[in-house]
Amino acid sequence: MKTAIAKLAVSAATYHIDKPYTYLIPDEMSDKIEPGMRVTVPFGRGNRKCEAFVLATGEADRENELKAIEYILDEEPVLEMWQLKLAMWIGARFFCTVYEAARAMLPVGMWYKDGKRNVGDKTELFAQLDIPGDEALTIAGTIKKRAPGKAAILRLMAEIGGAWVSEITYFTGVGKQSVTRLAGDGYIKLIRKEVFRRPEINASKNGKISALNSEQQSVLNGLIKQYSSGATAALLYGITGSGKTSVYIKLIEHVLSSGRDAIVLVPEISLTPQLMSIFAANFGDNIAVLHSMLGIGERYDEWKRIKRGDVHVVVGTRSAVFAPVKNLGLIILDEEQEATYKSESSPRYHAREVAKYRCAHSGAMLLMGSATPSVESMYNALCGKYTLYRLTQRFNSASLPEVMTVDMKEELRSGNGGDISRRLAREIAMNIQNGRQTILFLNRRGANSLVTCKSCGYTFTCDRCSVSLTYHRANGRMMCHYCGYSRPAEDTCPQCGSTLNYLGSGTQKVEEELHELFPEATVIRMDADTVSAAKSHEKILQEFKNKKADILLGTQMVTKGLDFENVTLVGVLSADRSLYVNDYRARERTFSMITQVVGRAGRGNKPGRALIQTFTPDNPVISLAARQDYDAFYSDEIILRQAMHMPPFSTLFTVTAFGITEADVMRACARVKAAMAGYLSGEDIKILGPAPALVTKINNRFRYRITVLGADTKKLRDTISHVVKVASRDKTCRGVAVYADLDPVDL
Ligand code: ADP
Ligand code: ZN
Ligand code: ZN
Repeated sequence: MKTAIAKLAVSAATYHIDKPYTYLIPDEMSDKIEPGMRVTVPFGRGNRKCEAFVLATGEADRENELKAIEYILDEEPVLEMWQLKLAMWIGARFFCTVYEAARAMLPVGMWYKDGKRNVGDKTELFAQLDIPGDEALTIAGTIKKRAPGKAAILRLMAEIGGAWVSEITYFTGVGKQSVTRLAGDGYIKLIRKEVFRRPEINASKNGKISALNSEQQSVLNGLIKQYSSGATAALLYGITGSGKTSVYIKLIEHVLSSGRDAIVLVPEISLTPQLMSIFAANFGDNIAVLHSMLGIGERYDEWKRIKRGDVHVVVGTRSAVFAPVKNLGLIILDEEQEATYKSESSPRYHAREVAKYRCAHSGAMLLMGSATPSVESMYNALCGKYTLYRLTQRFNSASLPEVMTVDMKEELRSGNGGDISRRLAREIAMNIQNGRQTILFLNRRGANSLVTCKSCGYTFTCDRCSVSLTYHRANGRMMCHYCGYSRPAEDTCPQCGSTLNYLGSGTQKVEEELHELFPEATVIRMDADTVSAAKSHEKILQEFKNKKADILLGTQMVTKGLDFENVTLVGVLSADRSLYVNDYRARERTFSMITQVVGRAGRGNKPGRALIQTFTPDNPVISLAARQDYDAFYSDEIILRQAMHMPPFSTLFTVTAFGITEADVMRACARVKAAMAGYLSGEDIKILGPAPALVTKINNRFRYRITVLGADTKKLRDTISHVVKVASRDKTCRGVAVYADLDPVDL
């Protein structure tokens, strides 16, 4: 006898036991259940109740005993067929379970309940006139004396026909009971309607793009032509200030007019308030935004507006790549080199890869844009995999800033131990005098403001994580940036007893130095401590924009997307800090960072200048960034990559083991390596490690890592997946967890 069954991706199935599980569909559910719905099932020996996605339904012989599905959680599928397929592809590609991948495509609001209701089901009362308008006016006239409130409502309703009850009470000043009574009289009817919570975006007043300049126009023409030829990929390499955004907007307009939808991905929403308002100015209500700064309800509602086909442009961060637009025509990845496009927790996908998959499967175009494209993308473009477009001029022929470097070694030698060189101080003073504004960027990547004893070299480190503690002036404590541990700052060195001075160069210290140098100047500081929500970030920028401050001092946040006319000077403090990190992308990242921040200067009609402070002015990465010479940087870098067999000449995988006991973790890693070497002997691959991860200990867990470099073959991927699964079952390494990753951000 045949019986109805479903294949499920089960939440409780961990990576090493993940597969489609078969469950019985009870008779009463047989006509309700569909792929893409969520259900609950008993799982494992204890029959723990857990959630699952239905991947497929079918029939099977009733041979062995099957467990049955318990409940259906959705009235209709929340995932479509293409999303289920994509989830399976992500599972295989990025070494995660299909459930994890599927869940990442949906707004979290689907899992959270607010009282009895789902977070998303927000409803309000809507009132509609149920009698002809002139009749309502007549009645209003007759009851005017007796019930002036009801009369006022009827007059309003006669005029507008329908309104939210909250609006009616607001505009008439009459209480809600009057509305209810009018409904009881049969004059109006009340309908409970769903309302969408919408995030607020301030449309920029002059953000509407009217015409392109000739270089932008010819790029647009090329892109439009390419768009009509189906699934393709393009790289737009345009210098800072060349107006990539304008090209995006015109291209999206074209895509919309062809009846299709567009998704625009940005690295981090808080970094791009200006971009958002320009999009709002051009597309109004036709956009939905998806990012982590939204409330759960807002995110869920934006997602629903997209799913229902109410909007055709989606702007968002990484996970917006999953936006369920109906008819995908274009995905744009702005600043495609940014590390934020890679997820660092499971599912560890890269938005660029997912975008490629989606475009290929829906005949859509992928457009990647950047002033400093990733080495991989430029390589693909030069090989002809992507079509390359260039914007070489700043809009309105504004010139690129003049860049100077300052050797901080000399500064030290001549007795200036501060963070601001004498040259930079002079330039800032001049700017203040002329009423111009300055942006100072403090590169914090790769180093912290350590607390070190100058006599004996003692440093304070976190007991749980293998990192140095950072001193925070605001609370007078030393803090760990990984686990949040903190302790009060000490006056003397616990090792030798000498007096400690807190010399780190955090933004706070630079701020103090600026106050000493320029007591009259206003300084706005922008870093993780001063920015807590999207709002406050926007407020800070708004304040700066309204010329309330002479100097904007900040970390990574000030490098991108800012476009202020009055900024004519940019200073890069400690430019080389990020250069000496042990990561094959360190050069690329440093180059990109300096180029981006230098590009913030001179965007209006006043020429800009930039000053790079470095201890290694002769390092080619620094000098090329100073010249804003991406092409030269790329040609140097690609040779290095080839010599080292690094991406794009190979694909880099890692297998990471972590656990409480260091010896167990190392042993697990060694076993993984041995197994892998066995399976892959004779293949042209390199297996490196085991080596401690960049931060070896986080929250008392040691992390060790194997790195595998080789051609991206199915055999290699299957082998990695297999050894991870075996290692997770290994009884001799209990307490050690193992996972694999594809090209992680932090090596
Ligand atoms: P990019 O993102 O390439 O660094 P932007 O898109 O920020 O450059 O553009 C730089 C400046 O030039 C912005 O102030 C933008 O408003 C302006 N701009 C660029 N193209 C146009 C255009 N076609 N019409 C009007 N203003 C433009
Ligand atoms: Zn000491
Ligand atoms: Zn810690």
